[in-house]
Amino acid sequence: MASREPAPEHLALLEKLVGALTARGILTEADLASKKAATERASPAAGAAMVARAWVDPAFRTRLIADGTAACEEFGISLAGNPPLGVLEDTPTLHHLVVCTLCSCYPRVVLGFPPHWYKSSAYRARAVRDPRGVLAEWGTHIPAGMQIRVVDSTADYRWMVLPMRPEGTVGWGEAQLATLLGAEELVGVALPGVLAKT
Ligand code: FE
Repeated sequence: MASREPAPEHLALLEKLVGALTARGILTEADLASKKAATERASPAAGAAMVARAWVDPAFRTRLIADGTAACEEFGISLAGNPPLGVLEDTPTLHHLVVCTLCSCYPRVVLGFPPHWYKSSAYRARAVRDPRGVLAEWGTHIPAGMQIRVVDSTADYRWMVLPMRPEGTVGWGEAQLATLLGAEELVGVALPGVLAKT
């Protein structure tokens, strides 16, 4: 995996930019620190908790699909300064796969840092050209009768998948259901639980 350490020339550019913005009163050190803390704090656990809630609470499910950004607010997750969140509902005949074809746009507030494969040029190109093939390599076999819709996450709109609740989970509470969900399930490269790997 590539290092997260920025290159020296990028760091120098960043320092100049921050210096210019703070000098003009557009940004404060406190704004930066708070934004950085929110990014560091974010993880797929947030997205998992929201999907688990949607699985047990039909009213929340409706709100989540209608307006992901507002649903985040219900969970105390602010999207201030971030693009809105859209939520893609999987059905028995439709599976969603999220990709950023241009770079690596990812709903960080609900999923944390993007996995290394999400940023790879191979995933970005092949997810569009041959989604069924890419998913099969993951061990995710989408039945022939189920359509796959590939959705491009962009700088203007970020997407998360609301997968179908797996069978065999009747009576499970939200916390237990959330254990079935990680970054892979929430962008659609894997299916949660027993539906999934073969
Ligand atoms: Fe991007």
